[in-house]
Amino acid sequence: MYDIIIVGAGPAGLTAAIYALRANKKVLIFESKTYGGQIVNASLVENYPGIKSISGFELATNLYNQVKDLGAEFKFETVINITEDKKVTTNKDTYQAKAIILATGAENRKLNINNETEFIGKGISYCATCDGNFYKHKTVAVNGGGNTALEDAIYLSNIADKVYLIHRRDEFRGENTYVEELKKKDNVEFILNSTITSINGNQKLESITVTDNNNNTKNISIDGLFIAIGQTPKNEIFANIINLDNGYIASSDGVHTNVEGIYVAGDTRVKELRQLTTAVSDGAIAATTAIKEMEK
Ligand code: NAP
Repeated sequence: MYDIIIVGAGPAGLTAAIYALRANKKVLIFESKTYGGQIVNASLVENYPGIKSISGFELATNLYNQVKDLGAEFKFETVINITEDKKVTTNKDTYQAKAIILATGAENRKLNINNETEFIGKGISYCATCDGNFYKHKTVAVNGGGNTALEDAIYLSNIADKVYLIHRRDEFRGENTYVEELKKKDNVEFILNSTITSINGNQKLESITVTDNNNNTKNISIDGLFIAIGQTPKNEIFANIINLDNGYIASSDGVHTNVEGIYVAGDTRVKELRQLTTAVSDGAIAATTAIKEMEK
């Protein structure tokens, strides 16, 4: 019997673990891939209070080690079901807890166009920090207008010879400081009000077709395409007992789900601002709420 099972080892889940472990609770954390969640792919994090600049990978690793040192048990298994009586079933076994915190984050949104899946690893990537180095002195494109796309474009501009930044609007969702930095770079070209309508190549990516808002199309030869168009939640497995809203976990107060003893934290819940800072805040609140209610 665990006190708290946490599903997801991103910043929200790991922060929940810190608070629960420091309150002497027995904690089990499930993660299907690797620890750190989306932040592991961020080339640089520069808006986390108290840390001027750090790579996402380093921050995630520090967080993971902190939780490990506090005595958390990690299982790299995929959760396939949870029940109202707090049983968690994975691809390997079933586990029992007094409380569950859902911190499953979100996964990379796909363009859902031809060749996208086929060419993953053959020119298509969702992680500039992981794959950027394959494109030294080559031509790449980044798609998206959020902080991830802007940071990826900055990162890649220091590796590749040419970077196209393709965004469907002419305003960016991401921070203006990044946009200004990109504007100063000679090897970055903005393609705005445009979407990628086709991914072309034989066995691997060779070019993309871009269509603008006036329906004009053009082909651009590239070696790599970094898709950074946001994330979508992956909560279908909970839908039999947990109320969802557009795929995100619904919560009246940002911490409780509709099932007693099952809490939510981080990007996977309905919320206004999905940031590292708000994810860690959620984790802290979820763990302290779970502990308080468990001890009642
Ligand atoms: P995001 O902020 O949701 O931005 C997604 C971008 O992709 C938007 O510009 C959106 O366009 C575009 N988009 C969405 N669907 C599309 C489609 N089907 N085709 C073309 N474009 C599409 O996602 P994100 O950049 O991954 O960031 C996620 C969260 O993490 C944000 O809160 C971000 O600030 C945060 N983050 C923080 C850091 C950091 O702190 N250093 C780094 C990375 C990310 P529209 O704008 O037109 O909707």
